[in-house]
This record gives sequence, structure tokens and C-alpha cells, in this order.
Amino acid sequence: MNATEVKPIPIRKAANVPSGDADDEIGLYEIRKKIYPRSITGRFATWRVALVIATQVVFYGLPWLYWNDRQAVLFDLTARKFYIFGLVFWPQDVIYLTVLLILSALSLFLFTAVAGRLWCGYACPQTVYTEIFLWIERKIEGERQARMRLDAAPPSLEKFVKKTLKHTAWIALAVWTGYTFVGYFEPIRDLGARAFQWDLGGWEVFWIVFYALATYGNAGWMREQVCKYMCPYARFQSVMFDHDTLVIAYDGERGDPRGSRSRKVDAKAAGLGDCIDCSICVQVCPTGIDIRKGLQYECIGCAACIDGCDQVMDKMGYPRGLIRYASENALQQHATGSAIWRRVFRPRTVLYAAILLAVGTAAGVSLYLRNPLKMDVIRDRGALSREVRPGVMENVYRVQIMNTDEKARSFRLTAEGLPGLKVADLPQTIDVGAATTRLLPLRLQVPADAATPGPHRIEIVIEAVDDASISRREKSTFILPNP
Ligand code: SF4
Ligand code: SF4
Repeated sequence: MNATEVKPIPIRKAANVPSGDADDEIGLYEIRKKIYPRSITGRFATWRVALVIATQVVFYGLPWLYWNDRQAVLFDLTARKFYIFGLVFWPQDVIYLTVLLILSALSLFLFTAVAGRLWCGYACPQTVYTEIFLWIERKIEGERQARMRLDAAPPSLEKFVKKTLKHTAWIALAVWTGYTFVGYFEPIRDLGARAFQWDLGGWEVFWIVFYALATYGNAGWMREQVCKYMCPYARFQSVMFDHDTLVIAYDGERGDPRGSRSRKVDAKAAGLGDCIDCSICVQVCPTGIDIRKGLQYECIGCAACIDGCDQVMDKMGYPRGLIRYASENALQQHATGSAIWRRVFRPRTVLYAAILLAVGTAAGVSLYLRNPLKMDVIRDRGALSREVRPGVMENVYRVQIMNTDEKARSFRLTAEGLPGLKVADLPQTIDVGAATTRLLPLRLQVPADAATPGPHRIEIVIEAVDDASISRREKSTFILPNP
């Protein structure tokens, strides 16, 4: 055991444990065996690489896009405004964030019910960054066998150079990832310029370093351990599965009994199944499991074992699909492709899809029809009501006008609800700049005999001068005191 390894704490099985020997020891810790996934090509590997490229082009590229002379996607926490291309979201738009979370959850339910851990296998940042870091590792240290030999080899100049190169590349990528992440919250070009002048703020440095360390640690060092021990989704995903959920499955009926043989051997005559026990499916697995033992929570559904086994089947001249996407029912009923696909459309998935479609459509329509004008009216609690001139009563309010549009606008403000109610001392039009807020004192006056003493419902109305469809009505109260 080398100095860095943690010795497992042994616990002894009780003597009355039915199976096993009383002298057996079980470790409370499992010492991690480093996994050296073999690279693989194939249908699913192509999909995975395509998704890695697509997600990373979006992640690294988006903050550099410009829209209306500003960063196209910017979550400006200081100004409390989120810019997403032509849309500007304010704290008042929190409902859209809620809808986004609902849509994400529904999508996860739907895709998991249909085909298990699609998210984990193809789009989760942990999978994506592990894939990128592994690619760098392979380019520098070589394939699985070469990496295993290098790690087992005593210190040498070659080992030092390769390890230094790999970690330098990993750290550079991790820092760029941290910088990009912060670039979603601070204008990225300005952030870069200030970084070169060593003029970054404390929080900016903290989040760049934090995100870089998380990327480097999770994708470079911890890898499958994040999925196995830290990710909560792996633990509760099974509740979203049913007997028709497509999972990566080994066809034991077809594959067993396993055994190596040459291509020329007639497997049936030799009493063998199609599995030649080559262990390729284990070697390509990024979590190091053997899918032939059945579905395990460590399986992230990446389908690398399908590609690996398909290559073996091709070489042996056997049909593909010894490991394949199949549901429990499909395996039991020996269902073929079209029968499996028909079961994708079952009540549960149709319901998820219908809700997803309904919520998505409603959110889309609501966004399209979104009123770019918002207004908050707050009564001045210092003075309920006062007589400003003989026979004229006045109530005071504070009005906050939010123009969420990226165009400066002029507005007209009026009040309704009492005879003779009028706005006092306010300009004819109120100018509010693009994507800005304006706070104004508002004084409303009525003749003292306009209504009976007590509170009265009124409405404050604001309307864009150039577009009557952009308007808001806010309810408030006007109080007339007892004479
Ligand atoms: S890759 Fe296929 S043939 Fe090889 S061990 Fe795995 S299941 Fe068997
Ligand atoms: S068992 Fe297959 S699908 Fe599951 S993680 Fe391993 S390689 Fe990926």
C-alpha cells in the first residue's frame, strides 16, 4: 500500500451471518480503483460527441454574442436584470423562472420514463467535462493500456512531462470554463480586459477559481465518483422508471452461457451463448461496471457498452444488440424494435408530454404577449389624506414605472374611480429610458364632496404615448376623511 492510500476500516461479520466465513472482512470504505475507460466509436459515441460539441459551443460561445449593443445573454445580478437576446427579465418576472424549472422537471420526467438516464449519458456537465478531460488525457498519455502502464511506471522524465502537460491543459480549460461561467454574470469582454490588468473584484476571482476548481476536480480526478456518491439524481431516478422504460440491458438469454471461442466455432453446438466474455463492455464503461450483472445505479446510460459489444458482434459475425436499449418487458416478451417503440407511447409518457406541451405553449404565448410596462403603486402611509385647498382633498402615493423594453418611451398617467379625480403637478408625459425604472411621487386630488367619507377604490392608469396597447392599470385606495 502506498502512503496516500487510506486503509479500510475492517468490520468482522457476525458469526451467525448465514453466508460467508466468520473470518471474512468487509471494508467500510471502498478504496477507489482508478478507471481507465477504453475509447470507443460507434452510433452512440457519435451522438455523445455531437452533444459534447453542441453544448460546449453554446456554453463557451453564448457570452460573446452581442444584441442591441449589449451582451446577448447576461444575468446582471447587480442591476437585477436578466438579458436573454431580445428579452429583459426583471425580478417581477420570477414566474418565468418558475415555469422554466417546471419545464425542466417535466422534461426530465418524460425523458427518464422513455429512455432512462438520457440526461446523464449525453448532456450532464459531469459527463460532458469528463469526456473532454478524457480526450485530453488520451491525446497526451495514450490509450487505456498506455495510461495504465504510465501510471504503474516508476518516476521518469517522460512520465513527469506527460503528467505536467496533461494537468496544465486541464487547468487551462478549467480556468477558461470558470471565466466563461462568470462571463454570464459580468460582461465577459470587460471581465477579460480587467483580468489582464489584474483589476478583478474579490467575488469575481472567487467564482472563477471556485468554478475552475470544481471543473478540474470533478472531471479530472473524481469522475465517476461524482455520479456514484454525490449526484442525488442517481439515487431517485428509479422511481421514474417503469417496466417499459428503455434502459441499457444485456440480453442474458441470448448471451449466456458465456465463453471465449474462435470465430469458426459453432456456438450453439458448443453450448455457448453469444457473449464471448471479452470484457470490452467493461473496459469502455466510464463507471467501471459490468452491465451483464443487470441494471445498476452506477450506470449513467452512456451506451458505450452497446457500441463496444456491437463491434465485437460484428467481428464474430453475430447479430448486433447483445447489449442494447431495451425495457424489462421487452426482454421478457422478446419484443422487437417496433413493438418496443409502440410502448414508448403509454399513458404515463403521453401525460408527461401533454403537460409539457401545454405548459410550454402557455409560457411561449405569455412571453410573446408580455407587456413590457410594469407599475407598482404604494400609498404614502405618512399622510392618509389632507386638505390642500379649501374643498380639495389629496392623497399621496409613490409610483414605480418599469420600462422593460429596450426602447425609451414616454407615458401618460391618469387616475379613475372618483368624480373629479385628477393627477396634480405631474408633467403631461413621463419619460422612462430603455430597460430602466423611474420612481415618482404621485398626488391625486378630488373635491371634498366627491364621495362619502371613507376609503374608495381607484385605478391608476399608465399608457405609452406612442402605443396605446402598452398600458397598465393598478388598483389602489383613495381615502376621504370625515368632515
Ligand atoms: S462486449 Fe459483448 S461479448 Fe464482450 S463481454 Fe461484453 S457482452 Fe460479452
Ligand atoms: S454500463 Fe454501459 S451504459 Fe452504463 S455506464 Fe457503463 S458503459 Fe455506460
